[in-house]
Amino acid sequence: MLNIGCHLSSSKGYMNMAREALSIGASTFQFFTRNPRGGAAELVDEADCAEFNTFSKENGISVILAHAPYTINPCAARPEVMEFALQTMADDLRRLEYVPGNMYNFHPGSHVGQGSEEGAKKTAATLNAVMWADMQTTVLIETMAGKGSEIGATFREVRDIIDRAEIPDKLGVCLDTCHVFDGGYDIAGNLEGVLEEFDRVIGLERLKAIHINDSKNPLGSRKDRHEVIGGGNIGLEAFGRIVNHPALRELPFYLETPNDLDGYKREIELLRGLQRS
Ligand code: FE
Ligand code: FE
Ligand code: ZN
Repeated sequence: MLNIGCHLSSSKGYMNMAREALSIGASTFQFFTRNPRGGAAELVDEADCAEFNTFSKENGISVILAHAPYTINPCAARPEVMEFALQTMADDLRRLEYVPGNMYNFHPGSHVGQGSEEGAKKTAATLNAVMWADMQTTVLIETMAGKGSEIGATFREVRDIIDRAEIPDKLGVCLDTCHVFDGGYDIAGNLEGVLEEFDRVIGLERLKAIHINDSKNPLGSRKDRHEVIGGGNIGLEAFGRIVNHPALRELPFYLETPNDLDGYKREIELLRGLQRS
């Protein structure tokens, strides 16, 4: 069965998210590690983490995806902005050790005029400062739409970061369907070609998760506006091919579509219905 969940609010802790996920038929979920608009993360609630570690196994909740706040910039030009990204990511990763074996997704950042090569260098340096050899979380670089000076909108830029990583075995990639489409990769018309290119440039063994979103904008628009599944320019037929593709169908899928819980429940059912057994 398709392993799928959606983005949930983390304000009430892991157990609350786990119960919410099960209530809508999800087998996984994503959450922000802290309020993206700033503020400190809650203290680690060790009892909540311990209860979740057992509960998730007993209830078939697979690997979950923590999402770094999208307001950090791990390749910033200003040292204090770099420092904030570094402190935030280091703190997030330390906290995630209380729920071992899961994944941490982050946006590779905006080069703000430094150029994408310098951006990749800096993002890799940030990763090298916050990752350690025996950490229990896999860190995922998210593919971006290329809005403004975002890096990671081409597979080459993602590869450039990975190539500079000192702990590459704990590093993977999360492919966001809206972002790659807005970045110019035609996953609606030529999924096979896009995945071949991903494999050639990055390697499909690095692909660990899918953000499954439709796009409000056309191919190559570099906009990053998510739409409900089937309501945008990627379209339902393409999502049928995506959830059935042999290179993708076993991966965890996370919805980040504009929805309430009921809407997410319906999209989970819709996408599961599209997958052939
Ligand atoms: Fe994201
Ligand atoms: Fe995403
Ligand atoms: Zn997005």
